Amino acid sequence: MQTIIQRIEMDQELSGQLKEAARILQNGGLVAFPTETVYELGGNALDPNASAAIYAAKGRPSDNPLIVHIADLDALTVLAKEVPDTAYQLAEHFWPGPLTMLLNKSDIVPKETTGGLETVGIRMPSHPVARALIKESGVYIAAPSANRSGRPSTTRGEHVIADLNGRVDMILDAGHVTIGLESTIVDLTSSVPLILRPGYITKEQIAEVIGAVEYDKAVLKRRKDDTIVARAPGMKYRHYAPKGDMVIYKGTAERVIAVINSLAAEYAANGERVGILASDETAERYQCSTVLRLGSHDDDEEAALHLFDCLREFDDLGITKILSESFDKGPLAQAIMNRLLKASGYQMVELSQ
Ligand code: AMP
Ligand code: MG
Repeated sequence: MQTIIQRIEMDQELSGQLKEAARILQNGGLVAFPTETVYELGGNALDPNASAAIYAAKGRPSDNPLIVHIADLDALTVLAKEVPDTAYQLAEHFWPGPLTMLLNKSDIVPKETTGGLETVGIRMPSHPVARALIKESGVYIAAPSANRSGRPSTTRGEHVIADLNGRVDMILDAGHVTIGLESTIVDLTSSVPLILRPGYITKEQIAEVIGAVEYDKAVLKRRKDDTIVARAPGMKYRHYAPKGDMVIYKGTAERVIAVINSLAAEYAANGERVGILASDETAERYQCSTVLRLGSHDDDEEAALHLFDCLREFDDLGITKILSESFDKGPLAQAIMNRLLKASGYQMVELSQ
């Protein structure tokens, strides 16, 4: 398939630049587009064939549901069977923005879009290109992250091109996204609302608006079937994963630096290509040729923004062993550590003093 790659000029009027993309969506085709969180791969949410094509392009298992992107609140009552007050309260505070709500789906949403589930994930993104595309096409856009399944999500046009060129009809390249982590997902169909995926909108922010909200157990612990022993690579469920084997080290800065330096030397001597995921504060303390900085330990927003960039850069550099610091400070700590843990296949080593 020939993929049309279109650069979007953000300082110029958008709807004219999106006419071809809108036409592709209306005709059942696939368009990758930027949102504030990550790039997404979109198709018509009400067209089962479009959803099937999304799964095929990503190489994604078809029981992993897609999120439906909307541009106005009226869409809620079209896509959901019943819309609780909590949904409107959250929408008022956080939409447009990086929050996905799970509601019971209406009959018009095909099971192909929801991975066979009776619930539908709905989000109103704030990125001007995403909003303009939904409006220009008049399509509710089903869209998972625009990466090959299992690989790190994409935060810039080049990432999407690397993963999906030749597999989708069009890629809209509007530069780097502004958040860098996927949306927070909150399930409003359970008796107490549950956060299924931590993201930029925190549990505390949601609780301020609707009261009680809990993390789903799977957010805090790895899934039962992910039977992994720390530092035993190869036999585990991985997501957002770089190609290299990755382990996170947690502890005091001095101890983490000492352990990572010593392991890096040992691995390099064994012929591994070693990469270290460090911070602005610590990067210069490592004796290793490939040290990437996630940002300052005091700036969780910056760390979130660079996380997937760094994981992809390790891949581009052919890194086979990644040693990462733990990034567990600030309101986004839960979301950042969730992605790092998944990327590492939950290989985290807690270092004692
Ligand atoms: P992605 O956009 O790649 O992060 O994929 C969307 C994610 O949203 C899925 O992997 C699910 O975790 C979640 N999701 C979307 N819709 C539902 C739903 N109806 N029930 C549970 N999870 C959902
Ligand atoms: Mg994804």
